[in-house]
Amino acid sequence: MGVSIAEGKSAIKPADFNAPYGLLIDGEIVMTDEGFDVFNPANNKVLASAPLGTRDHMERAIGAAKQAFPAWSALSADQREEIIVDFFNALEAQKEEFITLLSLEQGKPRHNQAAFEVNLANPWIPKTAKSRLDIKVLEENDDHRIELRRSPLGVVGAIIPWNYPYLHVLWKTVPALITGNTVVLKPSPYTPLCALRIGELAAQVFPPGVFNIVTGGNELGQILTESPDVGMITFTGSTATGTKIMSSAAGTIKRVTLELGGNDPAILLPDADWQDAVPKVFNAAFGNSGQWCIAAKRIYVHRSFHEDFVKALVEYAKTQKVGDGMDPTSDLGPVNNRMQYDKLRDLFEDTRRNGYDVPLGGVIDETQDGNFVPVTIVNNPPEDSRIVQEEPFGPIVPVIAYDDVEDVIERANATVFGLGATVWGRDQERALKVADRIESGNVWINQGQSHPDHAPFGGHKQSGLSVEHGDEGLASHTNNKTVVIRKR
Ligand code: NAD
Repeated sequence: MGVSIAEGKSAIKPADFNAPYGLLIDGEIVMTDEGFDVFNPANNKVLASAPLGTRDHMERAIGAAKQAFPAWSALSADQREEIIVDFFNALEAQKEEFITLLSLEQGKPRHNQAAFEVNLANPWIPKTAKSRLDIKVLEENDDHRIELRRSPLGVVGAIIPWNYPYLHVLWKTVPALITGNTVVLKPSPYTPLCALRIGELAAQVFPPGVFNIVTGGNELGQILTESPDVGMITFTGSTATGTKIMSSAAGTIKRVTLELGGNDPAILLPDADWQDAVPKVFNAAFGNSGQWCIAAKRIYVHRSFHEDFVKALVEYAKTQKVGDGMDPTSDLGPVNNRMQYDKLRDLFEDTRRNGYDVPLGGVIDETQDGNFVPVTIVNNPPEDSRIVQEEPFGPIVPVIAYDDVEDVIERANATVFGLGATVWGRDQERALKVADRIESGNVWINQGQSHPDHAPFGGHKQSGLSVEHGDEGLASHTNNKTVVIRKR
């Protein structure tokens, strides 16, 4: 395959948002014999049929990516950047259509969270494409020079979940592509549509085989992780699936980046400006209807203001409307899929059965057509309750009183997860000391979660392996190569 920059420069046809969906394999949109239904979570009606990829499709996609790799990796980073910027421009030109599709397939409100997701992802593309991993001279003298260079890994398999189905497509593929790898993306079967429309644009911009997308069941992910022709798996999803991926990738010693589950604490220290924190903690916990890995999933509040805080949080929560994502008055959307809805129903039932204090929500109205789950606050459940120990991934959060900061640090760390945390306190030095002792990859002090462009993001313990973003994230898509050059 010859790669010419001119290919990336030809006029790009907008994606047709009414057309049937096809896979992207070797630069072609491929229609499949069979499809699977994708549902609108606001009413559980079929939104579209997505192509059901088979083993053969996945193997063809991997083969195409393997074949495209030598020419793509031989381009200069500047040449690859130019093509990625074309891709960004094509996405930007249809931003509004993507925001609508995202809201329809994921459920998040179009006017706030869907727009936020697309507006976070798009500008990040050209910034990331500009990043370079320079050659590092480790030692130089009259006799020799030692350089640390980096080489791409080959085919990167990207496997993503359903909570940020637009953003994850780009976060997983752009860093792999700019560092010279080719990609095969497998979206979640619950939310494949944005990825497939992105594929229509990618098909026109990238040389054939550089960017491939195969949708279908979980088994496609396994084919990708087991393939000897794939050099790396970059995965975002649950810890349970991450464990399977790590073990099936072991057979061929693949590089793996795993961004997994979390059970993040929010700790309001005794000197926290708790009134100011109320809306921020609410968003940290309930944003995207609680369906994000770094959502605050356990809120620890100092007993001196715990009661007042719970009251204020409940009052604030009552101002937030759960509804159809296409309704501009909705603040929060439905839960994305029936599987997650059923998991939440079980957790709600456990909370009810145990008689925990629920000052807001607590009852799911199952007569509604969509996967609507009410914002639910559980006051002071025991530390060993399911609602404290498990990752709900939905709009139900415990608020727990504590007396002693040492004790709350211990409780915050008493989990297999270690993704993120928020710490709230007026004394910044003290808050920082607490942050230092939290076993997690990310801590935000006196603010909700953010994703600065160049900050590495990843989890500790069973929340993940390796990082995304920043130089460290880019480097994770490459091998180290030490070169020693004798000068005389
Ligand atoms: P999931 O693990 O069920 O699925 C994620 C992806 O893995 C899907 O595309 C699925 O088809 C695929 N998959 C399933 N089984 C597979 C297998 N055996 N081999 C290969 N691929 C397989 O996760 P989900 O329910 O889609 O997402 C929710 C989870 O994702 C939560 O635990 C959440 O915390 C986590 N998450 C983590 C981050 C992060 O950055 N750490 C971000 C978002 C979501």
